[in-house]
Amino acid sequence: ADMVDVPLKVRDLRKTFGGITAVDGAGFEIEKGSMTGLIGPNGAGKSTTFNCITGTYTPDSGVVEFNGEDITGLEPYEVAERGLVRTFQIARELSEMTVLENMMVAPMHQRGEALWRSVFARNDVNKQEEEILERAWETLEFFDIEHLANEYAGNLSGGQRKLLEMARALLTDPDMLLLDEPFAGVNPTLEERLLEHIHELRNQGYTFLIVEHDMDLIMQNCEKVIVMHQGRILTEGTPEDVRNNEDVIEAYLGG
Ligand code: ADP
Ligand code: MG
Repeated sequence: ADMVDVPLKVRDLRKTFGGITAVDGAGFEIEKGSMTGLIGPNGAGKSTTFNCITGTYTPDSGVVEFNGEDITGLEPYEVAERGLVRTFQIARELSEMTVLENMMVAPMHQRGEALWRSVFARNDVNKQEEEILERAWETLEFFDIEHLANEYAGNLSGGQRKLLEMARALLTDPDMLLLDEPFAGVNPTLEERLLEHIHELRNQGYTFLIVEHDMDLIMQNCEKVIVMHQGRILTEGTPEDVRNNEDVIEAYLGG
């Protein structure tokens, strides 16, 4: 297959914290335009894997490749620059800004100021602002939260906040989105909406890797499931394959 058909490749990833091996030789590949769930019991190493991919942590060993390029050990903004973007929880200082203001600063936050400057160096300042504002509005409308534009981010419900986090990530124009527990603290109505938006974006060609503890949610929404346990990939396959796998059942029951 063409390398662009498999944008993300993770090989033999390892990460320890003192004496704890959080990720113990994990490897997998993610196909373009797919929606894959990375599941596993608490402590399996999902978030650490996620953090090694996005540059939050540097792995002890192993390789992370994105669109054919070795991105292992790059800074988070350098990873984001290449189109591999994660959602960020709205930090405290951002909760004191409005939803629209959050959107306006999102690209700079994710991608680093250097890139931001270089992208817009050629345009005049008013035009830049106009373009960002236009995209911010479009994206808020896509997520049906434009009526919250002037609300302080700190006043949003858990689910609305997740929608804003996704909206902010999209403003950086990614190829692939990594979501770590995007449904945590989200009520069922908003969870349904969040899922609809993710499916719609997937249909537009975005690639998703969703890290999630809730096995059923992933089984119902992803075409491929990767199961982690004790820092390793226990199995991967379709939801049907994984659902009937004895080892998976045991890992979840045994913790
Ligand atoms: P999951 O996201 O699947 O619940 P994590 O990747 O968060 O799992 O954690 C895997 C293991 O690594 C756990 O034993 C956890 O306690 C440990 N761990 C994760 N992050 C750190 C850290 N920053 N320092 C020390 N131990 C950590
Ligand atoms: Mg986790």
